[in-house]
Amino acid sequence: MQHRIVVLGAGYTGAITAGRLARRLRREDVAITLVNAEPDFVERVRLHQLATGQDLKPRPFGEMFAGTGVELRLARVTGVDVDRRTVAVTDANGAGELEYDTLVYALGSGWNDQGVPGVAEHAHEIAGRAGALRLRERLAGLAAGQPVVVVGGGLTGLEAVAEIAEARPDLDVALAARGGLGDWLSAKGRAHVRKVFAGLGITVHEHTAVAAVAADHVTTADGTSVPAAVTVWTTGFAVHPIARATSLEVTGTGQIVVDRSMRSVSHPDVYAVGDAALAMGPGDKPLRMSCASGVPTAWQAADAIAARLTGGKLPEVPLRYFNQCISLGRKDGLIQYVTADDRAVRAALTGRIAAFYKELVCKGAAWGVANPLLVPAPRRRVVRERADAVAPANAPA
Ligand SMILES: Cc1cc2nc3c(=O)[nH]c(=O)nc-3n(C[C@H](O)[C@H](O)[C@H](O)COP(=O)(O)OP(=O)(O)OC[C@H]3O[C@@H](n4cnc5c(N)ncnc54)[C@H](O)[C@@H]3O)c2cc1C
Repeated sequence: MQHRIVVLGAGYTGAITAGRLARRLRREDVAITLVNAEPDFVERVRLHQLATGQDLKPRPFGEMFAGTGVELRLARVTGVDVDRRTVAVTDANGAGELEYDTLVYALGSGWNDQGVPGVAEHAHEIAGRAGALRLRERLAGLAAGQPVVVVGGGLTGLEAVAEIAEARPDLDVALAARGGLGDWLSAKGRAHVRKVFAGLGITVHEHTAVAAVAADHVTTADGTSVPAAVTVWTTGFAVHPIARATSLEVTGTGQIVVDRSMRSVSHPDVYAVGDAALAMGPGDKPLRMSCASGVPTAWQAADAIAARLTGGKLPEVPLRYFNQCISLGRKDGLIQYVTADDRAVRAALTGRIAAFYKELVCKGAAWGVANPLLVPAPRRRVVRERADAVAPANAPA
């Protein structure tokens, strides 16, 4: 009998986990099913580009996983029963159920409106493809001089506002940031962002919390009204509520709590990776939702599952940061070098070379997803007792 591994979500981390498992384990021993709601891979790290009218390379999963041994299931996950080891899905044929021996939960995240009044009704988002396409259409319909406000001074906000201002120099583009502009960056990094934004004509409202969003303006915490024909909300990501509805141990925000091997601390036959997992990094700090830390969690989970099934040594993939790669439009960028626990150091790369570096990083991430079988590793035989041991019946939580 094959050991059934079901991977939920084919974003960066789910797709990489499935592909790496297929490379590590013998086909006759395991059945790997990758479930995703959409037929194409979405390069989330480029959604600000999609929103500003650029076309992204189509990446159909059917082509990516052809001949890999990973079975694709195009379906929406609606629930997980970790005690019965089943996943509820709906697809074109209606509702169905998948059974698993090992589950990898990689459903990622969406935008986070943070309950601010008017955001859900009026603001745009770029955390998912549908949102980015809606914003693309809206931006294309704006006349010269109309105001756009990007709310959120984190990495996504910086990238989005620069991309919009570069693509549409005729618009009146502003950023509202709760703190100082790029205040976590090195002095060199901060100065560079400031210089690029000035060159792009971006108005920066620093130390400004947005308290409400309306159709044509945002209102700041001190009651100031800032005109906004379009508001783009980029104040962080929120995970899907599916895990929270299970008996898995999750955080207050719904991320699955995992150990160093990405295995759920409450259910040993469940692994979680990427944005959906709360994993600890260096300095016992939680890894932030990012590709930078999510991809290593995928490697870690796949290697841990393979090791436990085959009796190999449990690996420790390094979970650490090296740099923050920030695009500032298509021609400029910032590579901020950081400590293992993500604190900026003095060194930073700026300008065209940084834009080129960032482009390589994005291409590399997509390449890693699209070429699962190129992971250098021997396929190993599943040891039957191990396969049973790795998936014990769950005691009620
Ligand atoms: C505009 C933007 C720019 C970014 N730039 C960077 C960057 O420069 N560097 C960086 O490190 N990070 C960046 N990020 C963050 C990064 O994209 C995420 O952290 C990363 O995508 C997380 O990967 P994941 O596999 O956990 O989730 P995702 O990539 O979100 O994948 C989740 C998958 O699950 C599928 N799914 C979701 N719900 C269901 C369901 N119910 N049923 C079936 N399938 C479902 C989705 O369709 C998707 O395929 C950026 C994000 C955005 C939005």
